[in-house]
Amino acid sequence: MKSPIHRLLFAALTAAVLPAQAGPAHQHGVARLDVAVEPNRVTLYLDTPLDNLLGFERAPRSDAERQQADAAVARLKDAEKIFRIDGAAGCKLAKVTLTSAALGLPTPAAAAPAPKDEHADLEGRFEFSCTSGARAGFVEVGLFEAFAQMKRIDLQLVSPKGQMKATLVRPTSRVALVR
Ligand SMILES: [Zn+2]
Repeated sequence: MKSPIHRLLFAALTAAVLPAQAGPAHQHGVARLDVAVEPNRVTLYLDTPLDNLLGFERAPRSDAERQQADAAVARLKDAEKIFRIDGAAGCKLAKVTLTSAALGLPTPAAAAPAPKDEHADLEGRFEFSCTSGARAGFVEVGLFEAFAQMKRIDLQLVSPKGQMKATLVRPTSRVALVR
């Protein structure tokens, strides 16, 4: 049996080494963006409270809300405008996958049941094919322009050169991929 002190220490250590994703994720105004840079591909993973995109966190109830949700989804699917990767990398948008139970994405049949609590998220995966991903020196993130409620983006970058964390706070939009 481990002593309570041991257990406490272990809990503290575990909390310290776990990646950011494991922490309390849902904070209005804040989104998480993981960027994985590979030689022929740059993939971005977005995790955001729905509130940041829509101002509400449930299925749309009126035509106006439905239009708002459709517009937000369309903006995210137009990912070359939202994520502008350094031209040196020669990237082209390959695939966008959006998941949000509250919005019935990907399809109402396939989506998990909407969570019962008051909050809801959207997750997006944005894959770009690149001729030389390693030459991507920066990505210009257009989420603040597109979504007024988004205030901060916590980034985690993984590239062949290593890993790093970064934070974008409105109005800054450019994040360096190499240092
Ligand atoms: Zn919420």
